[in-house]
Amino acid sequence: MYRDAHLVLDARATLGEGPLWDPVERRLRWVDILASRVHAFDPATGLDTWIDVGSHVGTVANRAKGGLMLAQRAGFTRIDPGSTTPVPVAEPADHPAGNRFNDGKCDPAGRFWAGTMAYDCTPGAGALYRLDPDGRITVLARGFTIANGLAWDLHRARFYHIDSPTGCVFAWDYDHAAGTIANRRVVIRTGPQDGSPDGMAMDVEGKLWVAHWGGSQVVRWDPETGAALERIQVPATQPTACAFGGERLDTLYITSAREGLAPEQLARQPHAGGLFAVRPGVCGMHASPFAG
Ligand code: CA
Repeated sequence: MYRDAHLVLDARATLGEGPLWDPVERRLRWVDILASRVHAFDPATGLDTWIDVGSHVGTVANRAKGGLMLAQRAGFTRIDPGSTTPVPVAEPADHPAGNRFNDGKCDPAGRFWAGTMAYDCTPGAGALYRLDPDGRITVLARGFTIANGLAWDLHRARFYHIDSPTGCVFAWDYDHAAGTIANRRVVIRTGPQDGSPDGMAMDVEGKLWVAHWGGSQVVRWDPETGAALERIQVPATQPTACAFGGERLDTLYITSAREGLAPEQLARQPHAGGLFAVRPGVCGMHASPFAG
């Protein structure tokens, strides 16, 4: 059975991504990667504001000390409270000029994990990095094409990750104390008709909500059985990522992209690049802020 997501912001983003609920400011942060913008949407007023961060920005995280953390084209940056200018924090030594950071989030211990990809989507050119609160970068794994969709299930000591072109959601054993992963295996195989798996959010039941690029839908998947449990129809073919927000984390916000759509396609989906929302009937998990 399909349920529909509705438009909450006609943002017309080129590549809207990285939704993140800020429980302090009660706003949904999100990025337009290729426009180098970090947005903040206030559901109470419907107003959206943005800042230009000077280079492509894959994702945004809250910082425990206040301000924001970003994963940008070259590496990790931060924006201090009251500022709108990113300050470099750390850049991986092995990060090629043809790569950029893509999806990323903080783990339950407040370490910032983010993956990379090549602009030309060279197979296997991306890596998954971990930025620790002390500013050190560790390579967690290599060989990704489009590293996406991170989620941690602390209860099951699991980390979930997506490499979009494989069509699969992977689980790893997650060592919470060390911040490391091991033993990668496939837990969900999506079909070509589903659309490519992109960003992902986990609910309180440990189920995964995956945005399917090219599939006009967000699907709730069971990582225990690999089954699709529910499908949310999105009125745009390229939903990119989703995150739970609102005071009770009971609203699923969905970003989307206009990138690559022809004028006749945009005429059929005028709200492509918008921000959508749905009440899925289950609550999400709080996103951990960066502990540094
Ligand atoms: Ca993505």
